[in-house]
Amino acid sequence: MNSILIAKYGEIFLKGQNRPFFERTLLNNIRRALSDLDGVEIRKEVGRFYITSETQTEDDIINAIKNVFGLTSISVACKIPSEMEEIEKKIIEIAGNMINEIGKPTIKFKLETKRTNKLFPMGSIDASRHLGGVLLDAYPDTLVVDVHEPEMVISLEIRDETFIIERNVKCLGGMPVSSAGKGLLLLSGGIDSPVAAYFAAKRGIDIEAIHFHSYPYTSDRAKEKVIDLLKAVKPYCGKTRMFVVSLTDIQREIHEKCPEELMTILTRRFMMKIADRVAKENNCKAIFTGESLGQVASQTIEGLTVTNNATTLPVLRPLICMDKQEIIDIAMKIGTHDISIQPFEDCCTVFQPKHPATKPQLEKVLEAESLLDCEALIEKAMQTIELHIN
Ligand code: ATP
Ligand code: MG
Repeated sequence: MNSILIAKYGEIFLKGQNRPFFERTLLNNIRRALSDLDGVEIRKEVGRFYITSETQTEDDIINAIKNVFGLTSISVACKIPSEMEEIEKKIIEIAGNMINEIGKPTIKFKLETKRTNKLFPMGSIDASRHLGGVLLDAYPDTLVVDVHEPEMVISLEIRDETFIIERNVKCLGGMPVSSAGKGLLLLSGGIDSPVAAYFAAKRGIDIEAIHFHSYPYTSDRAKEKVIDLLKAVKPYCGKTRMFVVSLTDIQREIHEKCPEELMTILTRRFMMKIADRVAKENNCKAIFTGESLGQVASQTIEGLTVTNNATTLPVLRPLICMDKQEIIDIAMKIGTHDISIQPFEDCCTVFQPKHPATKPQLEKVLEAESLLDCEALIEKAMQTIELHIN
């Protein structure tokens, strides 16, 4: 490509002494996202990275890195010396190309300038005015200035060198993955938990996943579906490991010995207890779930309180206040929705009671739980763990 890409970041810039750590983490993640493309050069500058390549196209590079959390935008630009004559010549050429592409007899345009190079003889406002005038002189019959609703925008950054920006690609923002420690995500085959993975990664969490199955009540295909979901979130979350655990014996025991309406909440407490162990053994500092307030019986405030009580780790629920439709919209955007809606059973639906308790009381739940040998059941479930690396 002839252009240079300017990849910018946002929130990291507000960091104080820790900023180099976040910048380094972001740079590593960009490098990893580009690892399949040869011949790409990255140079770090304050607040941005410059990316060039003789062999790759702009779009190949943009597609590889646009989902890297932490980046706010990627601009496609051309780089020229910060000299007025050169700038005038180049913007006339670029505007000419844009005019041809738009193909209208009159075009409303805006030219904006950010000058940070204090040695340059004009300030931002004067430079914009002057260069806007240069374009009006070059294309007097076509261009009219309209700063409010422009059809064509030319942006300039006058630094040590000058960048003329031809287009901007908006990125996802957030914080770089691996900048906020590890979290263990309860991943089902449903719509919600892959979206929770996306949001956890968006705030810099390195995700590890735990999935519970209830074989033979749930099939192998249900497990494969979850592996497909992990693959689908890889562009956002990076490489992940998944612990796959059998809940079959636990669910059988609960079904046999405990009141029917507490089946779901007791199962969820066991999930939490096992997740708590796996998280602590693997240096995960929080548990993430795809729960959303009021979505189902176990996701009332009372239900969540009883679930939280099963672990001492913080349980973080990125979707807690989102509507199902909002979650679905994001699932579609990130490419997990169509995998999630494949109809395979989840262990939550095994032995599902007709009328699950919507306002479980902790005391009653603990009383029911005391009918089981929890320690032995958890120990046995821990023995079933299979590790899957994505
Ligand atoms: P989804 O399954 O898409 O998350 P859901 O509406 O099916 O949505 P529930 O089944 O109530 O939600 O589960 C709530 C949360 O519990 C899930 O988001 C997930 O974090 C966790 N969870 C449910 N089933 C499993 C499972 N089999 N393995 C691991 N975690 C699970
Ligand atoms: Mg589910």
